[in-house]
Amino acid sequence: MINSQIEVPDLSVVIPLYNEHGSIEELTHKLNDSIHQLNINYEIIFIDDGSVDNSFKLLQEIHQRDKHVKVLQFRKNYGKAAALAAGFKRAQGRIIITMDADLQDDPNEIGNLIDKLNQGFDLVSGWKKERYDPFLTKRLPSKLFNRIVSWVSGIRLHDFNCGLKGYNSDVAKVLDLYGEFHRFTPVLAHWAGFRVTEIPVKHHPRKYGKSKYGLARFTNGCLDLITIFFLSKFKKRPLHLFGIAGLISFFIGSVISIYLAFQRIFANQYLSNRPLLFLGVLLIIVGIQFVSIGLLGEMITETQKSHEGVLYKSELGFN
Ligand code: UDP
Ligand code: MG
Repeated sequence: MINSQIEVPDLSVVIPLYNEHGSIEELTHKLNDSIHQLNINYEIIFIDDGSVDNSFKLLQEIHQRDKHVKVLQFRKNYGKAAALAAGFKRAQGRIIITMDADLQDDPNEIGNLIDKLNQGFDLVSGWKKERYDPFLTKRLPSKLFNRIVSWVSGIRLHDFNCGLKGYNSDVAKVLDLYGEFHRFTPVLAHWAGFRVTEIPVKHHPRKYGKSKYGLARFTNGCLDLITIFFLSKFKKRPLHLFGIAGLISFFIGSVISIYLAFQRIFANQYLSNRPLLFLGVLLIIVGIQFVSIGLLGEMITETQKSHEGVLYKSELGFN
């Protein structure tokens, strides 16, 4: 038909990277080799998350000679979740695969992820069954973290943190990622009603560069889980959370106050020695506060705008 380079790709590989100069070239080769065997139109989107090494220069060179490769460059280091979100927004493929840029994820697994997606799943998460990372600082806390997330979220996966995942484009487009929420895409998708599963994938030790995350990721991860729980339930309707508490409080406060007013006016009782009066007034004020917070939440939800376009320093290969 038309030149294969301007055909809409079926597959988008989205790769966030931060200072991964050492592995980019080898990764691109391996990706091209693996995907060629699948016989599918594809694009590879690298998101340079504010690297301060030579990564972007190298990506520019690769983009020049390989039109499958597209590049977004952030002005600064916004984090992996923001990078993934940017990639998702620009990805054109019906299927989106995410992977890390450090060669720890194996491009040969892409075919397996696609097969699983074609079986009717919306999100397929990789499971690093055999990991090549240090035990104390990575594997042990990771195991704990995965147990907790699995328990809280109600979705039985072994490995939430794997960079290698496959998405149907509709899932990727509705996920709202920021901060360190990239670990929770299976949870978000599951709660949004999509079909989520996992497959074991090969994992390799890091060859170049070093890991960008320390132990703090796990504590942050658990806090993020609380945020995610709240957001997923009440983000679109904060008044439903605060409003109910506010109305109940206001109602009880009003009943108490009306009762006391009745006693003062018709039974001629003095209220100066009635602690109940304080409770009644307090409950009314707290009730109004809660409803106001809910309304503020509604206004914030309403005015939240995406900052698309301000984020990138350069864009290569997009029309
Ligand atoms: N990464 C990123 N932005 C960051 C930190 C990491 O885009 O702020 C990328 C990093 O370049 C790599 C992937 O996210 O491609 C996973 O990071 P890393 O390998 O350091 O994590 P680990 O393997 O230690 O879990
Ligand atoms: Mg890694």
